[in-house]
Order: sequence, then C-alpha cells, then structure tokens
Amino acid sequence: MDYLPLYLDVRDTLCLVVGGDSVALRKIRLLLSAGARIRLVAPDILEELSGMLDHQRHEIIQRPFQGDDLDGVRLVIAATDSDTVNGAVADAAKARGLTVNVVDGAEQGNAIMPAIIDRSPLIVSVSSAGKAPVLARLLRTRLESLLPDGYGRLADLAGSFRAQVKARFSSLNDRRYFWEKVFGGPAAEQALAGNMEQARRMIGQALEALEAQEEQLVGEVYLVGGGPGDPDLLTFRALRLMQQADVVLHDRLVSEDVLALCRRDADYIYVGKRRDQHTLPQEDINTLLVKLAKEGKRVLRLKGGDPFIFGRGGEEIDTLADEGIPFQVVPGITAASGCASYAGIPLTHRDYAQSVRFVTGHLKDGGYDLNWSEMVRNDQTLVFYMGLMGLPRICQELIDHGRNPETPVALIQQGTTREQRVYTGSLTSIVSDIAEIKIKPPTLIIVGEVVQLHERLKWFGLEEEYA
Ligand code: SAH
Repeated sequence: MDYLPLYLDVRDTLCLVVGGDSVALRKIRLLLSAGARIRLVAPDILEELSGMLDHQRHEIIQRPFQGDDLDGVRLVIAATDSDTVNGAVADAAKARGLTVNVVDGAEQGNAIMPAIIDRSPLIVSVSSAGKAPVLARLLRTRLESLLPDGYGRLADLAGSFRAQVKARFSSLNDRRYFWEKVFGGPAAEQALAGNMEQARRMIGQALEALEAQEEQLVGEVYLVGGGPGDPDLLTFRALRLMQQADVVLHDRLVSEDVLALCRRDADYIYVGKRRDQHTLPQEDINTLLVKLAKEGKRVLRLKGGDPFIFGRGGEEIDTLADEGIPFQVVPGITAASGCASYAGIPLTHRDYAQSVRFVTGHLKDGGYDLNWSEMVRNDQTLVFYMGLMGLPRICQELIDHGRNPETPVALIQQGTTREQRVYTGSLTSIVSDIAEIKIKPPTLIIVGEVVQLHERLKWFGLEEEYA
C-alpha cells in the first residue's frame, strides 16, 4: 500500500486551507461537514466562499500564505492553482510534521483525499494513491448505486443499540452473530426502507428472542415492481432485494432479462396466470407467500410494471398484513410510463392532453362496466391495460359515447423490450388496420391526441413501423 487509509477526527480542530477559488471551496465544504475550524488564506477569495464561513468561528486572512499561518494548525490543504505556492505550503507543513494534502499534487504533500460515498456515519472511500483520480471517481459512482441511501440510518440505528447489545452478550462472537442476523434480516430492510420505528421494534424483539434462546423464524416478503421489461428500468432497491431473496415468485409479465438478475441460487416458483388457464389462483399465491415467509424465507414476489397498478399487489399484502408478516412494496415503472416513453408518446402535453387515465381493458363476461362518458374528453389521454381482446369494443364504446372517431390510437406490443412494436391508427381504423397482424401480448393501448407525437418523437430501437 502506498498510503495508510485513516479517518481523521477534525471536529473543532483548526485546519488551514490555502487558496480562495472553487477548488478550495469544495475542500472547505468537506472540512465543514466534518466539523473543522478553518483558517483560510489567499490574496483573492471568492465571495461565496467567505460568505460560507462564520467569521466568529473561522479565520479568513486575505493575503498570500506565510509560514506562521501554520501555527496551531493540525491539517493543511494546499488548494491554489499554482504548483509553486502549493509546493511551498507543503514543504513548510512537512517541515513541521503536519499532515498536508495538495490538491492535484499528491506527490508534493503527504496525505491524499479519497473519493467518498457518504452514508454517514458509514463512509466508503476510494483512492488510487493519486495515480488515477478519475478512475477512483468512476468506481465511486458505481459503488454509489450499490449502497442504498438508508445505510446511514441503519448504522445510526445499530449505534443506538450498541451499548445494550454489548451488555447482553459478553462474547464478541455472540455479538457478531447477533448483528449479522440483524443486518441480513427484515429489521435492516425496514430501516433501509425508512420505517425506523418498525426497525427499532424488530431489533428489540430480536434481542429478546435471542436472549430467551428461541430462534426467530419469520422471514419477509418483498413485493417488487420489475418494470415493463427493460432491466435498465429497475430501481436500485428492486435489484438489491432481487439479489438477496431466497425464493422468487414470478409470472409471465416479468421479462426474462429482469428475471435473470435475481439471485442465481434462489428457488424459482412460476405462479403465472394465463388467460383461461389459471396456473395458481390469487388466493393460493397469497397463502404461498405466507407459508414461505413463515418458514423464515426472504420471499420475492416479482411483478411486471408496478405492483399497485393493475397488479393485485394490494390483495397479496392484505393477507401478509393479517398474518403479521413483515413486507415491503417497491414501486416499479408501470407499462404506461415505460411504453409511452419508449414509443415517444408523452402521456400529457400542454397542447394535447391535460390529464391521463389508466383503465383496465379486461373484459368481464364479454363486456365492460366502465364509465365511458367520463372518457370522451378530447384533452384526456386514456391508457388501457389488458385491453387487446377488448379492442373492438373499447373503440366502439368510445365512439358511441361521443369521442371523436378520428382520435389516434397506438398499440404498443412488448414495450421497452427488443421486441417492441408500435401500431397506430384511429378509433375507427385501428381494428381493421391490424386485422392481418398477429399482435403478441403484453400490449398496451393508448388513446388520445398525444399519439400524433409518436412519429416525431419516437427514438427507441429499429422497430418495424406499421402506419
Ligand atoms: N402491474 C402492471 C400491469 C399489469 S396488467 C404494470 O404496472 O405495468 C397487465 C397489462 O399490462 C398487460 O395486459 C398490458 O396491457 C400491460 N403491459 C405490461 N407490460 C407491458 C409491456 N412491456 N408492453 C406493453 N404492455 C404491457
């Protein structure tokens, strides 16, 4: 190792920064967030910079650096744009045995500042020993996406239990075992999701259960929206839960590419529903979720799109809530947003549509009990889910209730995937337009003037267009 990684406590400690422009400003922000007192020295100081510093607590000295600026200082940062000045500051500081960092001049100083991911109190730092700072920053960006924002909260919460845990388990091993269970379990997930009270309660319970030597055996359920198909559209949280689940319950709507990102050695259970061919009735899925969670498993219920939009997500968690099983719901990009974006059809637009309505196009007993007269305003976009079978009926009802028969319609097949196809027509023409085409599910129907924009704004893939 070229450097020894070390975290420095600079709270209320005098730190010297030499330099008065934006580079110094960035370093000062960092020092301030760690509670340091600053002595800022430079002939020219950005107004923004001196405005940032409380003049009672910090010192601002407007002139070039001189040796006695180092008096009483613990840490030095040379942040001017002159190598000579930075070098002189560094030499003087080293002569006094101080820690000195030179911005963009690692070899001149004796300390470097890493790229950091701040989830305080948790901090991850990345350094390339000054050899490739851009690479370090790139790596940081990657790590950022892996570390949920809630890690800081989780660490704080753990900190608040530390004394209690230490008092109850005298051996280091027992304590480690306890924390490993907590950090890999439902309490941690609740904390990451921001439910701090629930998390606190669960850690308290785990503590009591372990003390009483009884093994706690309740798992948890993640009801996760897997988006419309393109795996790039997953949320960070979805991906993280997908990668830690023990069992995955999925159905037809979840794309292969998304499914492939789940933990490899998890058990997979297909609970898909096909029209006319119910693989597993909804009630059975609900019971299965409960059963698996009660076996102590982390169960992922992966749904296409968003679980709370025509996804029956509400029913699935209703049973879990009844049984007191911890769960969380992770939103996903719903088909309407995904398909509309990838087809270049804005769902609202100042000139064409002031509102949008998501409607179930699922036929019940061959018909609909929808309020059609509410759907005929020209300035409203309609998005029909599950409407392919009912398309002729949908178009007819809209025309009969007074929507302009020339209103444009788009069918988006397998939106956001490589198979995406967009077919457009009007309320009067679309059914005959697509008569010869075998349209594959899932397909979404968008009705409204905004569909006109598709020709101009389409950008995704090399779809074969049908006009
Ligand atoms: N919860 C899902 C919707 C489930 S209902 C969501 O939020 O997207 C199933 C219907 O969604 C399908 O019949 C189809 O109309 C639509 N759908 C889902 N994914 C789609 C996709 N990739 N392309 C087109 N339509 C899709």
